[in-house]
Amino acid sequence: MTAAQRHRVTVIPGDGVGPEVTRSAVRVIEAAGVAVDWEEAEAGAEVFRRGDSSGVPSETRDSIERTRVVLKGPLETPIGFGEKSANVTLRKLFETYANVRPARELPGVPTRYAGEGVDMVIVRENVEDLYAGIEHMQTPDVGQCLKIISRKGSEKVIRYAFELARREGRTKVTCATKANIMKLTEGLFKRVFEEMAPEYPEIEPEHLIIDNVAHQFAKAPAQFDIVVTTNLNGDIISDLASGLVGGLGFAASGNYGAEVAIFEAVHGSAPKYAGRDVINPTALILSAVMMLRHLGEHAAADTVENAVFVTLESGAAVTQDLARQTGGDIEHAASTTGYTDAVIANLGRRPANPPRGRGHVRPAQSPTPRPAWSYAADAYGRISRRLVGVDVMIESDLSVAVLAADLEAAAGPALRLETVTSRGTKIWPGEVVGDSVRWYTGRFVAPDGGAEPSEGEILALLGRIGARHRWTQVERLQAFDGQDGFTKAAGE
Ligand code: NAP
Repeated sequence: MTAAQRHRVTVIPGDGVGPEVTRSAVRVIEAAGVAVDWEEAEAGAEVFRRGDSSGVPSETRDSIERTRVVLKGPLETPIGFGEKSANVTLRKLFETYANVRPARELPGVPTRYAGEGVDMVIVRENVEDLYAGIEHMQTPDVGQCLKIISRKGSEKVIRYAFELARREGRTKVTCATKANIMKLTEGLFKRVFEEMAPEYPEIEPEHLIIDNVAHQFAKAPAQFDIVVTTNLNGDIISDLASGLVGGLGFAASGNYGAEVAIFEAVHGSAPKYAGRDVINPTALILSAVMMLRHLGEHAAADTVENAVFVTLESGAAVTQDLARQTGGDIEHAASTTGYTDAVIANLGRRPANPPRGRGHVRPAQSPTPRPAWSYAADAYGRISRRLVGVDVMIESDLSVAVLAADLEAAAGPALRLETVTSRGTKIWPGEVVGDSVRWYTGRFVAPDGGAEPSEGEILALLGRIGARHRWTQVERLQAFDGQDGFTKAAGE
């Protein structure tokens, strides 16, 4: 794509402060001379209020399918009950699997770490994990959320992170997981990272447990280069990273997929500031810089980025959030419009002290993941499977001893009751008496040396349990290539 081209971009003003920050970013892009045909589209609170439970109307989906590039303001999400987040829906509908969030020391934005050269990029898996949003109430008072991590989803985002490192000449990729606790989900992400790292011999691979990453961010953030992580971990540590370099007012992001890219600030709709012309638009302007690079408008991207640096460096237009951090004059802080005017006036100027960064986020295109060896159809087909038994989750008010006796009687000849657990802790057989939440798991396995239970035997077991108890869920216990595809309970 050449700089002379016109681009089509879907712009979603969004909720709260969204219209103010998108207006600001659009003004700056236009002032930089980039030719964009904007398709304005709706998503978020107003759409929910009209009764569209997805928060993303079909006209908006159609526009994104046409333009494949989105600049969006934040969208308000109903909390607790009700509809799903329209943000998450947008990311998932268009399979934008890599959420890229740079956190770099900025000129004129003093922080505790100023001068240390913080310059990291967090690459957050953007589609899977607990954000799959598959939740079920198991009983009136026990909720469950499924954490989905796939090999393919992990490979895509980890490859993205390594390719980004290679493209930007970065030297280290840190994989941040909770693999020590969630061995089959976070552990899979870590294993895929370790399998893929040798393909990038010039890049140092490192694995850290996510809680230590939080600790190291606070202690010595400049040690990080690229951090790749699962969805929830990435959500939290990227906000933490933004706090290291000046706060949410400065934190930009891009959501990249094979087809579509969505650019947005990390922050939300900040409702208390909505309509007051006081919010800091830098985060969305820097997200727009990422968008310009994605569109191949590298010169314009550099021009806008430099104008932001000059504006911050000069201190001539300081927004409220920054004034608060620096003990400046909040009363006379720059408005959103005033700050945007200053950035526009600074287009074409270069900062005296540009950030000491290692590079720019220049994803000209999202790398399309190559099919991985481990996912090749023939290799997948060769994986052996064995059904070992079933876990049956049961709502019950009975004492553990009585429940276990009942379940033993229900087991039948093809299966035996191995354990009863409560929230992952073994409470039968044995002496442990956990605090009951009236929800238990009975683990039924084929007797030692016994054949795999048949479908009929499993259904008959459920029938016998269901005749006397309220079962809420069943999980097959499978072994793949001889490895258990399920975890043991604590205390087992
Ligand atoms: P938020 O909107 O990000 O605001 C939290 C705080 O961050 C603000 O009160 C303000 O701090 C500061 N802040 C945010 N943006 C700023 C900016 N541009 N300039 C200066 N300071 C800024 O988070 P929230 O209040 O938790 O969420 C509000 C709504 O946004 C929720 O409905 C949430 O679901 C949604 N949300 C949407 C997205 C998205 O669209 N991608 C992301 C996150 C949240 P002070 O109070 O200290 O001034």
